[in-house]
Amino acid sequence: MKYTVITGASTGIGYEAALAFAGKNKNLIIVARSKEKLEQLEKEIKQINPDLDVIVKVSDLSVMENVYKLYEDLKKYELETWINNAGFGNTGLVKDQELGKIEMMLNLNIEALTILSTLFTKDYSDTEGTQLINVSSVGGYSVVDNNVTYSATKFYVSAFTEGLAQELGKRGGKMKVKVLAPAATETEFANVALGVNNFDYEESTPRFHTAKEMAEFLMKLYESDKIIGIVDIQTYEFKLTDPVFNFRQSQTMKD
Ligand code: NAP
Repeated sequence: MKYTVITGASTGIGYEAALAFAGKNKNLIIVARSKEKLEQLEKEIKQINPDLDVIVKVSDLSVMENVYKLYEDLKKYELETWINNAGFGNTGLVKDQELGKIEMMLNLNIEALTILSTLFTKDYSDTEGTQLINVSSVGGYSVVDNNVTYSATKFYVSAFTEGLAQELGKRGGKMKVKVLAPAATETEFANVALGVNNFDYEESTPRFHTAKEMAEFLMKLYESDKIIGIVDIQTYEFKLTDPVFNFRQSQTMKD
């Protein structure tokens, strides 16, 4: 029995992605802090397909001890796909940043993603059919005003994930590594980034995708041979592309 792991599955893109993978008959391991929302998702998945196995893991992934524990707990399962989707943003000028929130963002968006990607790569890079998908952002390819630190975390996600994809590709690794780069998507994201609870996408955002649409794009990326799935910020079309960043041979190390 093989599983798809989705972090940040309690709301938004992760929630809809879990439903989309359930629709493809994939057993799921769903991770977030909100137990109730994950259990609601589990129920919904069971309605789609009662034969699927769904494992709920409640974990705060901004705490590194929990990150290692999560992976250790999942060692007993055979994993097929790992989606590092959990992440959040912060809207505001750098001079006004609340550093407690920023530390959590760096821990989750960068550290947890790197640790989980590394552990999954160690175990599965030579396993045919496995995939690692890291959720970045269009803000991980162009720096977004008033969201500079968040944007920088997503540059890290894009660079690390593209680099890992190239590193493995060059060495004949069997695992596929991919980046999803959404633009504005109707989720809890804006509420969390702005520190409010009533953000209305219809009223405040000229263009956006729904979380369900983004999950469909994620599925297209999963099913393709391309490394990047990115929303074109001009047209809002979803595009599958080759890596964007320059990848070059190290000057100091032999291969
Ligand atoms: P969302 O609705 O806020 O979902 C974020 C998910 O991450 C939730 O399931 C949340 O669950 C989980 N999460 C947050 N902090 C966590 C923690 N400390 N430990 C474990 N899980 C945690 O937002 P979303 O838009 O779907 O975000 C998904 C990804 O898309 C993020 O990486 C985000 O940066 C990226 N993205 C979003 C947009 C957008 O406009 N929506 C655009 C570009 C990129 P709990 O609160 O239950 O823990």
